[in-house]
Amino acid sequence: MSESALRLVWVYPDLLSTYGDRGNVLVVERRARQRGLEVARIDVRSDQPIPTSGDIYLLGGGEDRPQRLAGERLRADPGLGRAVENGAIVLGVCAGYQIMGHEFIDDMGQRTPGLGLLDVWSTRGEGARNVGDILAEPDPRLGLPTLTGFENHQGVTHLGQGVSPLARVTVGGGNGTGDGTEGAWRDTVFGTYLHGPILARNPGVADLLIKLALDVSALPPADNTWYEALRAERIAAVQQPAQ
Ligand code: GLN
Repeated sequence: MSESALRLVWVYPDLLSTYGDRGNVLVVERRARQRGLEVARIDVRSDQPIPTSGDIYLLGGGEDRPQRLAGERLRADPGLGRAVENGAIVLGVCAGYQIMGHEFIDDMGQRTPGLGLLDVWSTRGEGARNVGDILAEPDPRLGLPTLTGFENHQGVTHLGQGVSPLARVTVGGGNGTGDGTEGAWRDTVFGTYLHGPILARNPGVADLLIKLALDVSALPPADNTWYEALRAERIAAVQQPAQ
């Protein structure tokens, strides 16, 4: 693998990989290769150290217990924090998003520290789980079309001053705080509740991660036929709920 390959790190596939979030890795890998980029994919299991030299780090969702274990391991390993200091791009989904914040509630109902990479903290929602399809309008600064995804979480995530909402929900729960926000981001670190997987339903987000990693403002066009078909089908399904 050459020195110049895009280093794509999938964090803890053994703990954080619910609802098809592995697909996020496949989509980034494929869309980068379609642009002629060489990709070095690094899957880091929870008994392995997180490399600090990656370009893009992906964390998926997890059930409450694996989420606690992943949080413990990641707190004990400075790798991800160092990578962010080095300018790495990170996308965390659901449990991965919560772990990147200051604090979340674990499987034993305890407040447990996260990594503090995003100025957010998560509590346990008192109401029903947020489960179902979600539509959200992304922060205009990101230059992305409507986000479509699937959410399934009890956690509620509160945003501090140091982040911006990733998007505003039009259908679904998102952060679950009742303020209509979904996800959070600052600089190169992104958190979201969207599964789907998010990057298969929103290839523009995958391209955004690649552009940030390469520090370019545009990528060569890629064939979006199947992505667009999936997006249209899912968006239509949400807008016309079953009778
Ligand atoms: N365990 C977390 C919650 O329910 C995250 C769930 C998930 O990653 N799907 O809030």
